[in-house]
Amino acid sequence: MDYFAITSDRLDVTALAQKITIPDTGAVCIFVGTVRGLTKGEDGTVQTEYLHYEAYQPMAEKKLRQVADEIRERYPRTVGIAIVQRIGDLKVGDVTVAVACSSGHRTDGVFDAARYGIDRLKEIVPIWKKEVGPGGSVWVEGSYHPTPQDVSAPAGGADESPAFELACPACRETYPLDTPLFRCECGEPLEILGAPGFSLAAVDQSDYSMWRYRSLLIPPTVEPVTLGEGWTPLIPIEVDGSAVHLKLESLNPSGSFKDRGASLLVSILTSVGITSFHDDSSGNAGAALSAYAARAGSSAHLFVPEYASPVKKAQIALYGARLTEVPGPRVTATRAAEALHAQGHSYYASHAYNPFSPFAYKSIAYELWEQLGHHAPGTVVLPLGNGTQLLGLAMGFQDLLDAGLIDGQPRLVGVQAQSCAPLWHQYHNGHAQDGQVSSGPTIAEGIRIGEPVRSRAVLESVRASSGAIMTVDEMAIVDGLKELAARGFAVEPTSAVVWSALRQLIRSDTFPGPVVLSLTGSGFKTPNLAELIN
Ligand SMILES: [Zn+2]
Repeated sequence: MDYFAITSDRLDVTALAQKITIPDTGAVCIFVGTVRGLTKGEDGTVQTEYLHYEAYQPMAEKKLRQVADEIRERYPRTVGIAIVQRIGDLKVGDVTVAVACSSGHRTDGVFDAARYGIDRLKEIVPIWKKEVGPGGSVWVEGSYHPTPQDVSAPAGGADESPAFELACPACRETYPLDTPLFRCECGEPLEILGAPGFSLAAVDQSDYSMWRYRSLLIPPTVEPVTLGEGWTPLIPIEVDGSAVHLKLESLNPSGSFKDRGASLLVSILTSVGITSFHDDSSGNAGAALSAYAARAGSSAHLFVPEYASPVKKAQIALYGARLTEVPGPRVTATRAAEALHAQGHSYYASHAYNPFSPFAYKSIAYELWEQLGHHAPGTVVLPLGNGTQLLGLAMGFQDLLDAGLIDGQPRLVGVQAQSCAPLWHQYHNGHAQDGQVSSGPTIAEGIRIGEPVRSRAVLESVRASSGAIMTVDEMAIVDGLKELAARGFAVEPTSAVVWSALRQLIRSDTFPGPVVLSLTGSGFKTPNLAELIN
């Protein structure tokens, strides 16, 4: 017995109460918002003549239903719920919004239920308001930040099945999921839109892999190509008297968190008949793509710099992928991969650009929340190269926030190697001046990325989470490697950057717990371990 409307019609409060009243209803609590004529602010009193409201209707209606679901979860004795948001031009004194909850008796929680409803409506429903007064008009930004998803949400609403698609956050162009393009025609990386929001009911509790979140990650028609990736252990340890949790992404099938991205990418693309993949990679991304292409019976072609680690090259070859060694600097391998893309016979699964990887890394955030007993970490510390894992975590925690399951974004702390720290420079100096930012060399080869393609989004995510970007020097990386190993955790040097950053955080005592360290890759692929630790 619910009623939802987004309407330009006048609102009749009595009629609204009747919509959620049955014979044994004894109480209806209605919250009503009205247009205020005078607003006292820091700059004195502002006069309003009228307000203009707009909504992206399909998305807004979906969110109203979500608010009602949340009310029922918290106040189970609520019987009927009615939520009406008015749009269009509203005069001073007009009703703008109404949230009504009914129950058998006034002690059944209806006051709190209505109050919760209006608070959540303000937080998550995409409604925009323009204040028009004698001094002109101004759009008032609520706490809800619209995404391209709102704009592209399907009109109508009869079809409830999710419509996954790719969209460019820069120019708003959209593409089908099976586009052969690896980035937008404007040059920017694409994002996946249209996936359902997180809910505990959507989690398959019988599946102990990333695919426990299957319905949140891929369209129902897609069959996962899986090697059992994800649902990696979260191990609590104590460091200098502080509780710290280690997320062992190093235990994924090919030895790094990149398996999540490769699994999702190969699942989606093989489902539409793409059977040939290539990438330029000197390490974990190449190994992951090769493994999942092998699992799917597809082919993979990796362009690797001649100087790349012999163990990682061997791993790629072991999975049966074609390996082309490219002499010269790192970028020549990228050029070779782009040239193959231009021929049109193979999908360029660029680990820097492809939208599937960060989307898959949302699952790490979901897992952390589940493994911490339905609580978010206070702080997550992770190695930072291209920033795809950080973006995935930010998206995943945002999903949990939208679902009302956590109170705020955990602080995201990205750690770079001092000798290759373009994001650290941009974060602290506002820009990375040419010639000032060196791109290596560092033993943290997995984050030796001179020009991260999603730098703006990464910096925004770090700032939005009140996080930080830190650097550590080569000595500190080796120390981290040894100290983690001394506790039984063998990681690659890239992952070890988090250890000395953790020490700095513990000393500064400014970051909230629980603290999670993402141990991104296995130590068993590092060929010169003996030299490093001596
Ligand atoms: Zn674009």
